[in-house]
Amino acid sequence: MKVAVVGAGVVGSAIAWRLAQRGAEVLLVDSGQPGEATTRASFAWANASSVEDPAYFALRERGLHELALMADELDAQWVLATGHLRWAAAEGDSAKLRSRVDSLAARGYPAQIVTARYANDLLEPHVRFPHPDHPVAHFPAEPAIDAPRLARQLTSLAVAQGATALLGRPVRGIGVSQSRITDITVGTTIHPVDAVVNAAGPHGDLVAKMIGRELSLIEEPGCVARLHCRTDPVRQAMHAPNVEIRVDGHHQVLVHSRTVDNKLGPTGYAHPSHIDELLSLAREVVPELADAELVDARVGWRPIPWDGFPSLGSATEARGYYEAVTHSGVTLCGIVGRLLADEILTGVKHPLLAPFRPNRR
Ligand SMILES: Cc1cc2nc3c(=O)[nH]c(=O)nc-3n(C[C@H](O)[C@H](O)[C@H](O)COP(=O)(O)OP(=O)(O)OC[C@H]3O[C@@H](n4cnc5c(N)ncnc54)[C@H](O)[C@@H]3O)c2cc1C
Repeated sequence: MKVAVVGAGVVGSAIAWRLAQRGAEVLLVDSGQPGEATTRASFAWANASSVEDPAYFALRERGLHELALMADELDAQWVLATGHLRWAAAEGDSAKLRSRVDSLAARGYPAQIVTARYANDLLEPHVRFPHPDHPVAHFPAEPAIDAPRLARQLTSLAVAQGATALLGRPVRGIGVSQSRITDITVGTTIHPVDAVVNAAGPHGDLVAKMIGRELSLIEEPGCVARLHCRTDPVRQAMHAPNVEIRVDGHHQVLVHSRTVDNKLGPTGYAHPSHIDELLSLAREVVPELADAELVDARVGWRPIPWDGFPSLGSATEARGYYEAVTHSGVTLCGIVGRLLADEILTGVKHPLLAPFRPNRR
């Protein structure tokens, strides 16, 4: 079976790898380079704790499990750290966080409340919490991922398994005849294929349009900045009340803030004042970042389908057309890669994906 995967981000590269591993003839196409689009602009913290919807929680929990298996299988260098801290400012929010941790722990999800003192002593010595007795949620099994590195590894593994990677070349069209996928046009060359996977991230709507399908995406830009530090002032990932901070490799830290994202406006333009605000929010939490140097700031567009949930699996508009367009793609790439490869090669639709099928509305 010949399958074209459009997009070598963390999602498309995972699907291409699993397909190639199972003997499919894979064409992995990207107009840029693996992991250099949204995947590079991601906070890239894998978790299920941030969602309440039971089906989405279940999928993400499996996503975490699959990432852990992949990390073992691939001797991964892309797990930057494991463990995540979250705390709130207002008392009411702290109480909500505490009850969320209790309900997660009750269903077996690794989560506990510790004091800020404990977190400073054992986990994050340089973080400034509101008070030594402040409650801090600790999620010891949630990793921070070097997502571009993961996408590059998966792409090269797919190629090692026989896939062809066409990089720096855009997909311009998808051929459909009698409601069946027939070919894909890359640059000016037409390649006959049996199936196409749309893993084009925030451009997933444009790729869907190539077969006449309407996929509406919520426009939600987010800005991240990478900082070079003299030391390693943070060890894992954390959500402080107004800013998220995580380790990004040796002497490097990545910061993101929903407060700043909300100011970007519909064009997603990050003015230098937005970056300054992001850095100053981060420095309030980790004072050691005071002399860190900005090495990169970028805006990514979260690939969020119309109702906030992933769009995964075959769509009715054309036989052989599959969608893998999702926010939280870092958390989900492993499980999506496995389940979509299964569905494409065997026709079996996994029940975990039932609530997320492209034609659900
Ligand atoms: C600020 C921010 C914070 C985030 N935080 C998290 C987080 O903490 N945890 C988490 O799990 N997720 C997070 N996400 C979401 C996550 O980053 C994305 O869901 C994930 O990166 C999507 O990966 P992808 O492979 O689908 O898309 P992308 O990485 O965008 O890859 C799509 C690829 O398709 C290619 N492409 C597009 N159109 C074409 C075409 N016509 N022809 C050829 N190639 C094409 C692009 O070049 C691109 O390389 C965050 C996102 C943002 C923006």
